[in-house]
Amino acid sequence: MQLSRVKALINKSELTAKKKINSVELIAVSKTQPDEKIEVVLKEGHRCFGENRVQEAYGKWPRFKKHYSDIELHLIGPLQTNKTRQAFDLFDVIQTLDRLKLAKSFANLVQEKGVCPSLFIQVNTGEEPQKAGVLPKELDAFVKECEAMDLPIEGLMCIPPIDDEPSLHFALLKKMKDRNNIKSLSMGMSADFETAIMFGATHVRVGSAIFGER
Ligand SMILES: *Cc1c(COP(=O)(O)O)cnc(C)c1O
Repeated sequence: MQLSRVKALINKSELTAKKKINSVELIAVSKTQPDEKIEVVLKEGHRCFGENRVQEAYGKWPRFKKHYSDIELHLIGPLQTNKTRQAFDLFDVIQTLDRLKLAKSFANLVQEKGVCPSLFIQVNTGEEPQKAGVLPKELDAFVKECEAMDLPIEGLMCIPPIDDEPSLHFALLKKMKDRNNIKSLSMGMSADFETAIMFGATHVRVGSAIFGER
């Protein structure tokens, strides 16, 4: 597949799900991909990208951002507390807010800078011990704590367990979004973005289907 094919499939799912055409945001996940491949997608006019490591993103995106002014960069991987300042400076959206310590660090930076990237809370819907994310039963309280710190929570994000039926997790995340009055849902990757759109995804994160295998 590549960009145009993925976009066509997204449009088809939008139709089936009775959503507006082009209302779902496609995040092209460019982690570990060579600059040449990213450049191709940029030249095709795409501007929204996802990276999972702060360090790696600094290696490629400051230069691309100079050439293309309207890039929107999403952090979709775990963030260490000592890298929040760097993440704030480079990313437009941080999808992996997953603990109170990180929220506090964000709140301090907002005080200092007066601006904040859009924030998504990562939810560990499969309650996997090795995976980051707030546990489902702790989410509502965590949202309230973030709001009390004036952090603007735009969305929820999840990465379903590899061996599970993803739709169960998509449905669970949608429920948590609705009851917390949150706007956006980041779910669905190369293998299941069409399903995710059926379950209400507003953002899909697609890597290998656009760029090829990593
Ligand atoms: C790598 C990654 C993706 C993209 O995965 P593909 O299967 O290549 O589409 C999406 N979300 C997260 C959090 C990732 O780390």
